[in-house]
Amino acid sequence: MSDQVSVILAAPVLDTILQKMYPVFNADQGRFRVASIAANWQDLERNVRNMKADVVLVEADVANSPQQLAQFLAAIPGVALVVLPPGWAQAEGTIRAFSWMRTKCTMNANYHTKLEKVGQAIQNAEAILIGGGAGLSASAGLVYSGERFTSHFADFIEQYGLTDMYSSGFYPFPTQEEKWAYWSRHIQVNRYDPGPGQVYCDLLRLVKEKVYFVITTNADAQFEKAGFVRECIFAVQGDYGKLQCAKACHDTLYDNEDLTRQMVVEQSDCRIPSHLVPRCPRCGEFMEPNLRKDQYFVEDDAWHQMSSRYSQFVAALGDKPIVLLELGVGYNTPSIIKFPFERITAQYPNATLVRINRDYPEVSHTNREKTIAFSQDIGEIIAAICER
Ligand SMILES: [Zn+2]
Repeated sequence: MSDQVSVILAAPVLDTILQKMYPVFNADQGRFRVASIAANWQDLERNVRNMKADVVLVEADVANSPQQLAQFLAAIPGVALVVLPPGWAQAEGTIRAFSWMRTKCTMNANYHTKLEKVGQAIQNAEAILIGGGAGLSASAGLVYSGERFTSHFADFIEQYGLTDMYSSGFYPFPTQEEKWAYWSRHIQVNRYDPGPGQVYCDLLRLVKEKVYFVITTNADAQFEKAGFVRECIFAVQGDYGKLQCAKACHDTLYDNEDLTRQMVVEQSDCRIPSHLVPRCPRCGEFMEPNLRKDQYFVEDDAWHQMSSRYSQFVAALGDKPIVLLELGVGYNTPSIIKFPFERITAQYPNATLVRINRDYPEVSHTNREKTIAFSQDIGEIIAAICER
């Protein structure tokens, strides 16, 4: 990455707050060069073409739609678009907004060079370790909030004030009938109804000729659906498609597809019929989806087998050229993928860490030279690497 990042400010970001920040932005240890301030669409086009900008900054709610701008910029190699979300400066506070913007700019600079580097690294790699977090499935369309949530859960939103599918998973429903009415629908729309997302299919296309292994916190089986070899997927946090004893009295897991679909069909007024409430066949306790949310999470034989395969895979990496793809991994459970991937990258001399994360694309100091990071959509990046 070059030492200096050239930024073009599109007209609409020139509000009072950005004007206040302008001197700071401009003087940031010479790393940023504000190449131009575009006053209108024609200005912007001319400036981007003439001034070799790395980044164009624009606010999301502008008259020229970001999509139009993105299309225009896509034709110019090496220029990245940073779209500032509506109200970004007010919401974050000026200093935080600046820091956020700086990170985004750094991440977006030299986009095409970075894509090329990643493509090369994957081509040369003798092994690829994939870490899939929630952001990966979100990129595949399995978004847990917004329209996808409100359209599927209107009745639950009205009755319980639920806000999204992530936090709803922790909602203390007063009865088992209500809990399973929610959970069956959650499981059906996230685990059983969706086909494999495009980004998962592209990802497989990218690595299928390679030796690979997947570790994921996602419980939606998307890797398996896309065709990744089952013996190479370690789903650490469980699987929506399995039931377990709520008190973990034994470590057998039970497929729940038929029961789930029946619960969805037979529920009304946010309740399933009582006779469908699952009970542990050993102790008679209630049951839970096999998801790690308390100390009763069941790790069955298959889980332990995959866990040791993962350890063996990592131990065998040695000084081979390897690529770690960290995809959409945030800070909910960083000890599962994020921190170990940093350690592995530091430990192995020929490791390249590729981090794609919309919210946390920052690169650690230790692995600065070995990391290539992006804050764009995962699907967009993976597709672009496939097409190179
Ligand atoms: Zn039991």
